Amino acid sequence: MARYRDANCKLCRREGEKLFLKGSRCLTDKCALERRQYAPGQHGQSRRRKVSTYGLQLREKQKVRRTYGILENQFRNYFKKADIKTGITGQNLVQFLECRLDNLVYRLGFAASRKQARQLVRHRHIMIDDRTVDIPSYQVKPNQVIRVRDKSKNLDMVHASLKLGRGDEIPWLRLNKAALEGELLEVPERSDIPLTANEHLIVELYSK
Ligand code: SF4
Repeated sequence: MARYRDANCKLCRREGEKLFLKGSRCLTDKCALERRQYAPGQHGQSRRRKVSTYGLQLREKQKVRRTYGILENQFRNYFKKADIKTGITGQNLVQFLECRLDNLVYRLGFAASRKQARQLVRHRHIMIDDRTVDIPSYQVKPNQVIRVRDKSKNLDMVHASLKLGRGDEIPWLRLNKAALEGELLEVPERSDIPLTANEHLIVELYSK
């Protein structure tokens, strides 16, 4: 499967915002954005020109897509699904992204980054209810329980990630650290999702 292979920190520097792509490193002063607050590349430090409306829309889309680690085609498919669904398209889009299995493994704190969460899922360390699921894009439904498989409960990666305490702060998730399991209580409202993005700009971009 195709995936992004360049340096993750360049993506944050391009968006001018922390996207938290490298786990615990993002929380330290080793974060590349703390040290170099300008875009990567030869012209990264030159004064910014006025950004067009299209430029703003594109940057917003790229920021969200890169935050969740999704390639362009798949992101566009999420938009199509969000557009068909009743309700507000932008909100539907963010909810679809938020209910991906790899994202919820990350939110619960079993992984330090979404990339690591995807690896846990692909390597069959994660179960939904009583079934092993190895599809990172799996859409988790309310009341489904996400758990680390018994044979994977000693993974250092999982315990180191849990120490970051991320899963404790999310009101629409129930985390049981001792059992290494968590439940999606409900599909979160947009206002409860910790994502600084203006999804209306993405809707405008794709609606042209
Ligand atoms: Fe982004 Fe993390 Fe790299 Fe900082 S350390 S630039 S937040 S990926």
